[in-house]
Amino acid sequence: MGVFEAIGADHHERVVVGHDPATGLRAIIAIYSTDLGPALGGTRLFPYPDDDAALVDALRLSKGMAFKAAASGLDLGGGKAVIIGDRSMITDDLWRAYGRFVDSLAGAYITAEDVGTTTDDMHVIAEETKWVVGRAADDHGAGDPSPATARGVVRAMQAVASHLHGSDSLSGARIAVQGVGKVGSALVEFLVEEGAEVVIADIKQEAADALVERFGVKAVAKDDILLEECDILSPCSLGASLRVDTIPNLRCRAVVGSANNQLATDEDDNRIADAGIIYVPDFVANAGGLIHVSAELDEFNAKLVSRRISGIYDAVLSILSQAAADNLTPNEAAVRFAEDRIRREGNGVTFRHGGQ
Ligand code: NAD
Repeated sequence: MGVFEAIGADHHERVVVGHDPATGLRAIIAIYSTDLGPALGGTRLFPYPDDDAALVDALRLSKGMAFKAAASGLDLGGGKAVIIGDRSMITDDLWRAYGRFVDSLAGAYITAEDVGTTTDDMHVIAEETKWVVGRAADDHGAGDPSPATARGVVRAMQAVASHLHGSDSLSGARIAVQGVGKVGSALVEFLVEEGAEVVIADIKQEAADALVERFGVKAVAKDDILLEECDILSPCSLGASLRVDTIPNLRCRAVVGSANNQLATDEDDNRIADAGIIYVPDFVANAGGLIHVSAELDEFNAKLVSRRISGIYDAVLSILSQAAADNLTPNEAAVRFAEDRIRREGNGVTFRHGGQ
């Protein structure tokens, strides 16, 4: 597959390749749009099987970041970086080479941590560029965004409860959480505080056991969590939980989780709607982390961050009612909302290039 074929109809604003043979750095930065502001998105370190897989991931994730920023009212574009490899190749020199690569884009792209990268990595990258957020709280940063992401997921769940029952209380709601890592474990804590009945699963047994002990929640086998009868299923592990083979077996009324790219394919959006299940788009439900890290760009204001994360509630309610009014899936309604905002309030680059 060639680069232009991969970009296809999406018309990304810019795709840049960074290669530093001395450190083994092989990175791709994809910028979908800078229409609303600089393209903020994390750096994913992953052992992609080949360059094409890395490129496709960067393109898909950067587009998702643009929609996430637009839908959550942030003045940011969307970008994402991928590095091909794993932790065994990581050295400070590699991060410095990567920092210079990010710096060469002069602020069009701002990086942060993502799957496979940490706040410590951002610290080293920051030696070479100022275009980095997601640093530790004692290192000019706002600290781990995961609890903020979990807060936003709770607000999205409350909006769904309100949409379904006219009350935003989660007390007594049965909620199944798939994956209890950084976001999932914070989410479980918040849900227990809200009085929900929580069921969890993780491929790491010790992660699930720790929460069972701490909160008295129930753990099930990883393959059973998607089969749990519940009010809300919350995918908080990796993507593609909602697939042609899993959707027919779901026994939930709604899906609201933190994982990026929960729908394996575009067709799964209609599949889940046809199954009578409300799917809150991942890029709306999980925007809390982006809201949190982006606040580092100005003087960090915890009250403003909290108010913006709370606003995910209104965003979800409005997307659900717009979807019902226009006979769209919530995902289609959210994409339309995000694209309209980019078109209306942006500087026109993305759509001048022909993006749809
Ligand atoms: P994490 O790696 O800390 O946690 C993921 C957990 O899922 C791990 O405990 C892992 O063992 C578990 N897991 C993996 N596959 C599983 C499976 N098949 N069944 C059950 N458990 C499984 O990651 P995280 O930071 O908590 O992020 C979770 C998801 O949310 C990711 O998709 C991430 O991209 C997305 N996300 C995270 C943030 C954030 O602030 N951390 C923000 C936005 C989106």
